[in-house]
Amino acid sequence: MNVLVLNCGSSSIKYQLLEMGSEPELKAKGLVERIGLKIGCLAHKNDRNQKYETETEVPNHTVGIKLVLEALTDKDHGVIESLNEIKGVGHRVAHGGEYFTKSVLINDDVISKIENCCDLAPLHNPAHLLGMRAITDVLPEVPQVAVFDTSFHQTMPASSYMYPIPYSLYEQYKIRRYGFHGTSHRFVAEKACDILGWNFEEKNIITCHLGNGASITAIKNGNSIDTSMGFTPVEGVMMGTRTGDLDLGALLFIMEKEKMSISDANSFINKKCGTAGVSENSSDMRDLQEDAEKGSERAKLTLDMYAHRVKKYIGSYAAVMNGVDLIVMTGGIGENSDVMRKMILSDMNYLGVEFDDAKNTDLRGEDATISKPNSKVKVMTITTDEELVIAMDTVKVAFRN
Ligand code: AMP
Repeated sequence: MNVLVLNCGSSSIKYQLLEMGSEPELKAKGLVERIGLKIGCLAHKNDRNQKYETETEVPNHTVGIKLVLEALTDKDHGVIESLNEIKGVGHRVAHGGEYFTKSVLINDDVISKIENCCDLAPLHNPAHLLGMRAITDVLPEVPQVAVFDTSFHQTMPASSYMYPIPYSLYEQYKIRRYGFHGTSHRFVAEKACDILGWNFEEKNIITCHLGNGASITAIKNGNSIDTSMGFTPVEGVMMGTRTGDLDLGALLFIMEKEKMSISDANSFINKKCGTAGVSENSSDMRDLQEDAEKGSERAKLTLDMYAHRVKKYIGSYAAVMNGVDLIVMTGGIGENSDVMRKMILSDMNYLGVEFDDAKNTDLRGEDATISKPNSKVKVMTITTDEELVIAMDTVKVAFRN
């Protein structure tokens, strides 16, 4: 059964077509960009490694989706003969607010709830809705499923999701911690438990999704009970260009000194800070590691800060769960940076982590254990695959419920 996975942004559509047999297979993937501008483009790659690129006007998401479907059914670079072969469409949805605790079949009620969450994710949710409507136009009979970044974290208790602000503001505006990257945290924790032969619902797990955006989650007995991102994806650990945790007083001070508007400040905390801000050079971990190796003190400071902030979250989540059985590293940095994994996970013997640097060194993009056999706490690297989770949920929700 073929499932189309869509991640629609305001001017882009990322897609994958997966064949969901007993071993799911990626058949094609690609990206439509510059929707709404004079010239848009599509870049497509199929499972025979053929690449196809085209430039054409893409005035809206419906035209963009049509372009994707043409690429998928093309005689040369396509992977299916007809659109009837697409049995379901899964949409990544950034924000489900307090409405959604799991993935759901899209209907009018779901659409209106996603609309109600647009305030909480103004850049993302409206674009996802455009994608859903475009599919309804072009493939009206095909079931569509919404998979939310936030839903896995809806099990957090109020003590971890509430902010210390007047309660009435929570009631009025739903200002609280939601968390993001939920599909990734759930996927890597379950996969690590599968590999270890453990029951996911009986363990204390800390998942570290360290990519350009980054978040850490505490999972107790299968439920997210705390996560580092909050009302927005700015809270938590330091990221490529986002601050992570920052004294609010410092932000107000910067805004006053630099005469920043609210929109300037929003762009500042999202795009100018994090590792890019401290290094004043790059948001990319590879560049920073290279610079640090060459002796750059600023790059070394940036790496030290990054590791320190992740370590603090791991310690605090072990504290709130009364111990930890498994730590999972994922995302571009967690999967590939042996240097950063070592900086974070060394000297954690107080917690029962015996880090195995021999196994860690040069390990990239593999599912593997990087703790010593006698380590009380297991540490693993797991390759995340958010599109696969979306496709699996689409099959489950649309056909197996
Ligand atoms: P993501 O957002 O998950 O794609 O992750 C992007 C981040 O992963 C960037 O900071 C990259 O520098 C980092 N990354 C990817 N490959 C490596 C690598 N081999 N070593 C260190 N960092 C890497």
